[in-house]
Amino acid sequence: MYFFERSFDRCSDLGFPSVRKWKEQHPGGQVIAYFPVYAPVELIHAAGMLPVGLSGAGDRLDIQHADARFGSFICSIVKTTLEMGLTGHLEPFDGFLFSTICDSARNLCFVMKRNFPSMYVDFLHLPHNPSSPAATQFLAEEYRRVLGELERLGNCKVNDDALACSIALYNRNRALIRELYELRRRSPELVPTSELYQLIRCGNFLPVEEHTTELEQALTHFPSRNAKKRDSIRIVVEGSFCEQPPLPLIRLIEEAGCYIVDDDFVIGQNWFDSDIPTDGDPLLALACSYLDRSVYSSVRHDFRKPRWEGLVEKVRRSKADAVLFLIAKFCEPAYFDYVPYKQELEGAGIPHLPLEFEEKSFTFDRLRTEIETFVESLIFD
Ligand code: SF4
Repeated sequence: MYFFERSFDRCSDLGFPSVRKWKEQHPGGQVIAYFPVYAPVELIHAAGMLPVGLSGAGDRLDIQHADARFGSFICSIVKTTLEMGLTGHLEPFDGFLFSTICDSARNLCFVMKRNFPSMYVDFLHLPHNPSSPAATQFLAEEYRRVLGELERLGNCKVNDDALACSIALYNRNRALIRELYELRRRSPELVPTSELYQLIRCGNFLPVEEHTTELEQALTHFPSRNAKKRDSIRIVVEGSFCEQPPLPLIRLIEEAGCYIVDDDFVIGQNWFDSDIPTDGDPLLALACSYLDRSVYSSVRHDFRKPRWEGLVEKVRRSKADAVLFLIAKFCEPAYFDYVPYKQELEGAGIPHLPLEFEEKSFTFDRLRTEIETFVESLIFD
């Protein structure tokens, strides 16, 4: 078993052993969970707290209480997150941060607020119109407000040097992730996505310093492998930016004859396409970077750079043969975007296959048949 598989197992445990261990090592330290897709983790880190990305409970928790608070047509991650709270699993967390990704996540934030009044639950307003001249200042002020709440919670004061230091640590972490993605694009036989996914997802839980060490180890481990090239098609996976597909489904896609050469899994870990500046006002740097350095996403509206063009660019850059849409059941942002994505791909002559999953699925016979048929149709075209 590789080191990152051990970490992934620990991070998948709903007892949150890595979070409890951090709390033991930092008596009085506070842990702030954040809901996907993106959170300014640097603010939490600079306040001396541990940011933890919580992406639902997968198949590890039966929903018994959350169904009573939400309608039927709501994605699983919203329900399992609330279920974790209602069953006491969120006890190690001192706060929970949400942002403007969709109506379901917005409602979850306020349901959490009402059900857990002693917990710090906050909603981060990310700008919807990045071309507005007020967007940068608005976001910097919103970050200042959230930072003020964290200072109040942690009874601390965060200065610009601490923020710049946290930004530099996360810059290093994200640069290593970009390197790993580049290595996979060049040599997917060396970097199976089922392994890369586990490695990156651990970053949601581990302290950034520890996760960066794991990424560095991986960057020496993967290239030294003696892996044979398979006769597989190269695909980009799109649509799994929030609720995460079960790991066996990612393995199945690879076994069915696909090299996944790019994806949007756990996209918050890989949110910026270049480093955030560490000089000047750090909150302004974070705000400018959200507006100008973010990767495209179905939950970030930026008509200066339409995301359907971003998808075609991603396909070209990774020399992919096709796109696999892996969309969480009832995920509105992903389904709304499927239409313009499809039109753009068809215009560019790029084949695609739409599939639907739930984080708690455990049988994939129908999906296996669909993927194998798609792969064969491309190979024998
Ligand atoms: S999976 Fe989709 S619908 Fe559900 S919370 Fe995430 S973005 Fe919203």
